[in-house]
Amino acid sequence: MAEAIAYFRGNFVPLSEAKVSVMTHALHYGTAVFEGIRGNWNEKEGKIFIFRMREHYERFLQGCRIMMLDIPQSAEELCAITVELIQRCGYLEDLYIRPLAYKSAERVANLKLHELDSDFTLMAVPFGSYIDTEGAIKCCTSSWRRIDDTMIPPRVKISGHYVNSILAKTEAVLAGFDEAIMLTHDGNVSEGSGENLFMVLNGTLHTPLVADNNLTGITRDSAMTLARNELGLEIVERRIRRSELYLADEIFLTGTAAHVTPVGFIDSRPVGDGDVGPVTKKLRNLYIELIRGNNPRYRHWCVEVPLESG
Ligand code: PMP
Repeated sequence: MAEAIAYFRGNFVPLSEAKVSVMTHALHYGTAVFEGIRGNWNEKEGKIFIFRMREHYERFLQGCRIMMLDIPQSAEELCAITVELIQRCGYLEDLYIRPLAYKSAERVANLKLHELDSDFTLMAVPFGSYIDTEGAIKCCTSSWRRIDDTMIPPRVKISGHYVNSILAKTEAVLAGFDEAIMLTHDGNVSEGSGENLFMVLNGTLHTPLVADNNLTGITRDSAMTLARNELGLEIVERRIRRSELYLADEIFLTGTAAHVTPVGFIDSRPVGDGDVGPVTKKLRNLYIELIRGNNPRYRHWCVEVPLESG
C-alpha cells in the first residue's frame, strides 16, 4: 500500500508528522532552496526511474552554497535518501520529488544568513501532467520582468525568487493563457514561469543564454543533447528578442514538470501553423520515452528504484 512519507529532521516519518513552527525563518523570507525531480513509472518493468537525480542534487547544492544553507549531506547521500524514500512510499505511478533545504531557525527578525541554522527535508507526491492541455499551448509575454542575477540569483531554485514566476503564471492563466514568457529587465527573452524556452528557426535550435537570467535547466540540457545527438541539429545559445518569437517556425518549453511542451500561440499570434511542429514532436517523443528508462542510449540518465523486497 502506498504511503506518503517524508524525510524530516534526519528520519523517515509519515508526511502528516513533518511539521515546522510558524516562526521558521524560511516561511517568512523564502530563505530556502528546492528541487523538482521526477520519478517516472515504467509499467512494463514495474519500477520507478528517477530522471537525472545526480544533476538535480548538484544544482541543489549550488543553491545551498549561494544561500549559505549548510546541510551535512553530500550529493551521493541525498541520492541514497531519495531512493530509500521512494522505496518506503511504495508508489506505483509517476512522482514529483521535492527536496528542500531551508533556514529552519525559529527567528523572525534576523536577515543574516550566516547566523541561521539550516535543515533538509524531502517528500514525494504522485504527479501527472503539469500543463493541462492537449497539443500546443498558448503563451503570453508577461508584464512581469524576470528577476536579474543582480537581485536574486535565478540560476538555482531559491524559494523566494519563485514569487516572480508565480506572479507571471497567475497573470497569464487569469488572462486565459496557459503559460507566461518572461523577458529580462532589458527586454531579452528569458524563460517561462517554470520552463526554459527553445525556438526552431530554419532548422536550427535557438535558446536564450543562461546569463539572460534563466534557470540552468536540466531538461534544457537534455533537450540540447537529444537535438544534437539524435536529430543532428545545430544549437545556438544567444540573446533573443521578443519579436523573434513571432517569426519562429516552432517554439517549445522544457522543464521537469512540463517535459517538452509545444507552444502554438504567442501573444495571440500562431507559431508556425499553430500546431505541434516536427522538431518539437520528435524531441517530445524521444524525451517522454527515455525518462522512463525505455531508451538504452540514455538509461544512464535514469536511476532505477529497486523494489523494496528485492
Ligand atoms: N525555469 C524555471 C523558472 C523553473 O522553475 C524550471 C523548473 N525547474 C525550469 C526552468 C526547468 O528546469 P528543469 O528542466 O531543470 O526542471
